[in-house]
Order: sequence, then C-alpha cells, then structure tokens
Amino acid sequence: MTYSIEKVTTLIGARRFGESDANIGFILTDSRSLCFPEETLFFALKSERNDGHNYIQELYRRGVKNFVVADVPANYDTLYKDANFLKVINVLEALQRLAERHRDEFNIPIVGITGSNGKTMVKEWLNQLLGDDLFVTRSPRSYNSQIGVPLSVWLMNEHTQVGVFEAGISKPGEMLALRDIIQPTIAVLTNLGEAHQENFSTKDEKCNEKLVLFHDAQTVVYNEDDDIVSKAVSELDDFKGEKLCWSLKDKHAPMYVKKIDKQENTTTVTYIYNGEENSYSLPFIDDASITNSIICAAVALKIGLVADRLDKGMQKLEPIAMRLEVKEGQHGCTLINDSYNSDINSLDIALDFMNRRPDHEGRIHTLILSDIYQSGMAAKELYSEVSELCNKRGVVKFIGIGPELSANADVVTVGEKNFFPTVDEFVASEVFKSLHDEVILVKGARQFGFDQITELLVQKVHETTLEVNLNAVVNNLNWYRSFMKPETKLVCMIKADAYGAGSVEIAKTLQDHRVDYLAVAVADEGVTLRKNGITSNIMIMNPEMTAFKTIFDYDLEPEVYSFRLLDALVKAAEKEGITGFPVHIKLDTGMHRLGFNPDTDMEELIKRLKHQNAIIPRSVFSHFVGSDCDDFDKFSAQQFELFERGSRKLQSAFDHKILRHIDNSAGIEHFPERQMDMCRLGLGLYGINSRNNEIINNVSTLKTTILQLRNVPAGESVGYSRKTILDKDSIIAAIPIGYADGLDRHLSNRNGYCLVNGKKADYVGNICMDVAMIDVTGIDCKEGDSVEIFGDNLPVTVLSDIIGTIPYEVLTGISNRVKRVYFQD
Ligand SMILES: *Cc1c(COP(=O)(O)O)cnc(C)c1O
Repeated sequence: MTYSIEKVTTLIGARRFGESDANIGFILTDSRSLCFPEETLFFALKSERNDGHNYIQELYRRGVKNFVVADVPANYDTLYKDANFLKVINVLEALQRLAERHRDEFNIPIVGITGSNGKTMVKEWLNQLLGDDLFVTRSPRSYNSQIGVPLSVWLMNEHTQVGVFEAGISKPGEMLALRDIIQPTIAVLTNLGEAHQENFSTKDEKCNEKLVLFHDAQTVVYNEDDDIVSKAVSELDDFKGEKLCWSLKDKHAPMYVKKIDKQENTTTVTYIYNGEENSYSLPFIDDASITNSIICAAVALKIGLVADRLDKGMQKLEPIAMRLEVKEGQHGCTLINDSYNSDINSLDIALDFMNRRPDHEGRIHTLILSDIYQSGMAAKELYSEVSELCNKRGVVKFIGIGPELSANADVVTVGEKNFFPTVDEFVASEVFKSLHDEVILVKGARQFGFDQITELLVQKVHETTLEVNLNAVVNNLNWYRSFMKPETKLVCMIKADAYGAGSVEIAKTLQDHRVDYLAVAVADEGVTLRKNGITSNIMIMNPEMTAFKTIFDYDLEPEVYSFRLLDALVKAAEKEGITGFPVHIKLDTGMHRLGFNPDTDMEELIKRLKHQNAIIPRSVFSHFVGSDCDDFDKFSAQQFELFERGSRKLQSAFDHKILRHIDNSAGIEHFPERQMDMCRLGLGLYGINSRNNEIINNVSTLKTTILQLRNVPAGESVGYSRKTILDKDSIIAAIPIGYADGLDRHLSNRNGYCLVNGKKADYVGNICMDVAMIDVTGIDCKEGDSVEIFGDNLPVTVLSDIIGTIPYEVLTGISNRVKRVYFQD
C-alpha cells in the first residue's frame, strides 16, 4: 500500500516545497535504520537532544527524496534536486496524523491494548490464536510509544484483516494521541501495576489515563474484579459500547471464569461466554499467563473464533521471548539470537540491530532463518520480500531452514545461499562446520528447534553467566539525562570493563545513543573499543607513560593530572610531529588523589600549555568526593567553588572553549545546577543509585545453576574447615561459582544468600574457589535449576551491604571467566 506524495501532503496538511512525483511506502524516523530510500518518507523529529533536520543531507545522499520538516533547508531547490519537503508546524503530530488517516482506510476489527503488564504477551498470543485464520498486523516487539504506535499502524496493508496494537504511556496526556491513531474497535486494559513506577500521582489517575483508550471503542475488555478499574469504567461519561468484562466472582459477567484447574504443566480454564459453558487448556500454570489467556479468550471470541478452535489454539500457545541476545560464538563468530516470533517486521528490526552494532573486523553478516508461519502471504511473495530485505540490510550469507524455504530457494537472491529441510540436516552439514568469523543472526520459529543451533555455536560456557540488559542501560542513561539540560554533554564511564558489564557491548549501545564521550581507565581498554568499531570520542583516565604512541595512533584523549605527565606527553607528541592533540586537565579540589592544584598550579600550567602546540586542553574537570551523601554538601560546595576558580583561570588564558565538568552520577541527580558543560555518568548507568543504594533499572544479573542436590543429616558439617554445622536434616545444593568468579567469601556460612526459584537460599560452609554450597531445604527445586546470585530480584546492593563494601566492588569483581550475555527487548 503506497501513497502518492500529493496525497500525503493533503493528509497531513503540509505545505509542499518541491515538485517531483513520488510514492511513499516506508516511514523513517531514525536515519540509521534506512532501508528502502526511494519509497521512504523521512520525518525530521526534534527531541530535546537531537534534531532529525541534521540528517537530511546524509539521507539525501543515500537516496531519500521525501522529507517532512518543520524548517525547509535554505536553497532546497538547488541543494536537494528532485526532493520534496513537506513543511508542517509539528513533525511528530504530522507523523501521528498520517498514521491516523491510514487507519481510517480500514474497516476491520482493531484491537488496542494498554495496561501495566502483559500487553506484549496478549498481543502476541492473539496473533498466535487468530493467525491461522486471519491476516493479523500487529506492533512489532513493543513499539508502543508516541512514535512506535504510528509506525506500527502504518504497517497495515491490503492483506490486513485484524490489527492488534499496544499503547504504552509514561506520563499523563499521552493516551489521547495513541487512541486517535489506533481507534480501537476493541480496547483492552490488561491490568494496573503499581502507581509509583510512572509519572502518575495515584493509581486512579493512571487508570483514568489508560481508560482514555476506551472512549470510542465498540467493545471494552477489562477485569471486573479490580475495584479501581471497575469503578473508573462505570464513571466513563458517554461511553456507549459493550462492556466485555471478565470476572472470577461474578456469575453474570459477560466472560465469567467459572473454574481454573492447574495440573502439572497445563491449566484448564472453564468459562461462560454468551450463556455457553466451554473450556480451554493452555500449556502454562503461572498466574500471569492464565490471566493473559483469559483476556485473549474474550477478545478472540468477540472477533468470532469459536470455542473449539480457541481451545486448539490455546493448547499450542508458545512462550514469548522478547529478548534479542548477543553471544560470543566459536571460531570468531558473534551470534545474535532472536527467538521472538518469526515474521518479516521483527526480522527487519533484528537485521537493523545487527547493522547498528559496529564491527571493525569487517566480518560478513549471515542470517539463519526458519520458515515463517502465519504471514498471511503467498510463500513466493513472502520470501521474495525477505530476500529483498536481506539484500538491503547487507546479509551476505543466507541459510534457510524448513520445507517451505527450501521449496522457494529460487526467489532468494542473496549472494551465498543454502537451504536445509531441518535443523538436524543443517547441523550435520559442511555449511555449519565452516561457519567462521561471521556475525550471525539466528532467527527461527520455535517449532524448528533453533535452540540447538545456538547451543552448538556458542562457546562452551561455564554455567555461570552475567546477563546484561542493554535496554536497562539506555533507560538509566535517559533517567540521568532527564536531570540535564539538552545542551549539556555527557561522558559515560566504562572503565573497569564497564563496571564489570563488558565495555565493548556497552560502548556500542552508548554510541548508538549518541553519548559525547566514553571514558576508560587505560589505553589498552581504548584500543579494544577502537578495534571493535567504536568511533566515539574516548577519554583515557590513567594514561601510562609507556602508552603514548598507542594513544596517538588510536585517537584516544588522555587525562593530564601532573607536570611530569604533561611534559612527557608533550615531548612524545612533538616527536611524532603531532599538533593540537586534545587532552583533559584534571584539578584536585579535595579528593587528593590526582590533579593540579587550582590555587597554586594554574599559572605554571597555563605557561607550559602556552609554550607548545602539540596538545590542547579540550576540557578541564574535577571529581566530587561525596556527592552521594548530604553530609558532605558543604564540602562539595567548597570543591565546586575551588573548581570554578581554577577552571575559569584556565579558560581565560585560551580563546577556544574548554569544556568544564565535575558532576558524577550522584552529582547529576543531587547538584544538577553544577552540571556545567558536561557530566560524567558512571555507576548510575549500570542502574545503581549511589545516593540511596536503590536500583533504577537493573542492568546485570549474575546467574548460575544447581549442579547437584544432596540430603545431609543434622549434625554434619558442610565445606572446608567444617564452618557450618547443620542443626537439622537439610538439602544442600552445590553451585558452580566460587570466589575465583568474584563471589565474596564473606558471604559464607549463612552471612549471605542467593535466590532459588524466588526463595532465599543461604550460603552454607565456606565458599570454595569454584563452587559454593547453599541450603535449599524446603525450596521446590531440582538439579539444573537456575540460581540468581544478584540481579533483577536480588539487588547487588544487598550483597555489598552484607560484605561491608560498595556495589562498585562487587560488580567489578566478577571475573572474566564468567561469560557475559547481552540482551535487549
Ligand atoms: C569513575 C569516575 C566517575 C564516575 O563516578 P560514578 O560515581 O560511578 O558516577 C566520574 N569521574 C571520574 C574522574 C571517575 O574516575
């Protein structure tokens, strides 16, 4: 489905500059995701920190000819030949308007889903339930924001028979726009979470905001048993639609859930809908899944699925893996594992993700793809589209698995291609054995058993892994940015291997989010980043005298804290014939660690800097000793004053702007008025708020598994030196993690605990080098079960408090042999 540029102009009420004909099939809001330039319409969105208008030139060079802008570039007709500029007052509103008008073209059931949890699962399950009979267009992944929703709705085309879209809000006032775009015929509220998580003062306020989605819907689906929700729905003015609420208590509810019967691995739900009693079974027993299934059942029945087919569909429901995982594979390969439902939109997002991770080694990009189910398209058409997408997104090697792909091998035109009917045949083949030095996207429908491929390709891992959530890193970044003025620059501290999280992947994520500087401790860390394709500015906090040549060769910007270092650096730079090399001057304002004295050293420093032209001060900074604690506020004020004085002296001696910075993570939050030109974000990026020891968004989770379980009678001891004597008959589990992995021995002998299936399990006996023992008496668990050492459910600060240290030490102490696994939703 395409729109002529004239039509688009009218639909969004723009003024058009330029006269070339064009047909628009694709919408772009992020220049890095460009794929089909000729048919793309770019929306130059402005955010606090970025402006889409800055990317027009680059996009034009790459073939984009159509732009929605607030400001038309000067001399557009000579600079941008054949281009069209559609001028509007508000670019985001224009994007939303276009999606809204596109939505108007469809007279089909459209499901809009909001709620605090479960939106994505309900959306995906509805697709699984309805997809065999109907062509469903749905939001890819969790595209549910002010930008994500219009992009999702835009995906509907002439095949679409049902639309299923998520609407997510983070602050009051946002739902109205989303409702106008989605215009749901069926509106769903999954549930209401805790109020404090979002920018709402009360749960009622949040509920009312979410219910804005309900206003003009023909049918609304919600939980009658939730009093806040029920009351709010009953108070909706002028709502004329059908209230399809579900209840476990009210026999007269339109969807009455009469019985929930949990068996070992399945649950049977008996319900009365339209006066008819039926039941279905689903392959899950957890409460969230059961609730989501009830919501899906109500919607699917409403859309017309019959009870019998509903039951069949429910039995086949699959868990939703939202995660895109990055793992180091064997033979120099990196694996991107995406077990999210296979469809063309999520394939596009995963390919885009692969391309946006810089890779300096120039390794080829390989795709391993299974047959795509439930696409609603004819196979030839579908796989030609897949092939075109692969070519556009730089896939060099294509491996198709499944009978359908094999049968349509001819429409795939990727340079190197291979097809196999099953995973087993692929794994046995030469093609599998010869994979090396590639970035491989593994994307397959669950039925094909793609897990086997990743397991075989990933390096044998120690069962202990540190899972790093890249979304959480971005959310933390944005949380701190919210305290900063848009123009304030940001250094992200990724020293000590990104506080243990792994500097390369963290740096890739930060570079993609346009942070101004990355900072590492030593030159070698900087070299590693450069070798992995990081082009951002990189600061070296502790430049070694022996590493100057490396620093110059790799464009790393050293910190300079003493006259000795300054002179040596200048001498080395002069020897290389270098001029104007940027450095960062550190002042000591009270830490008494490294740095020039702002009162006594400045004149000499200025003199020496002026007497050479090999290096040039790019910034000047100092470091708070206690911004995390109010007790030191007076001292911090003193430090700031001293820094102001010293840094002003330095600046006044030079004509060029020297960036001044002093705020670290805690400082950004506590002294936003001291943000100056730049801030340095460290621990906060990794989700820990050092001011209150709370977790902002958890980034790292250290996990292991139960190796062995044994019964040990009362009176026996556990571990070296018999430090724990059991006072009752116990079940003891051995886990493959020890102090050599960074598990502190001070946790031994019931001083600390980990989590086994959500329950606390004490460490018993002394923690050994590679193994620890835990007491799982009374905990439902078996060998092979997962154990959380710290992370999503057990804050790392609990451990650091027990040990009597700071979370920094625990995080950076996780040894290198613990495999890092990265994922993003
Ligand atoms: C590590 C470091 C930071 C970051 O501090 P956090 O407390 O982790 O935010 C900032 N500045 C300097 C000089 C550092 O060494």
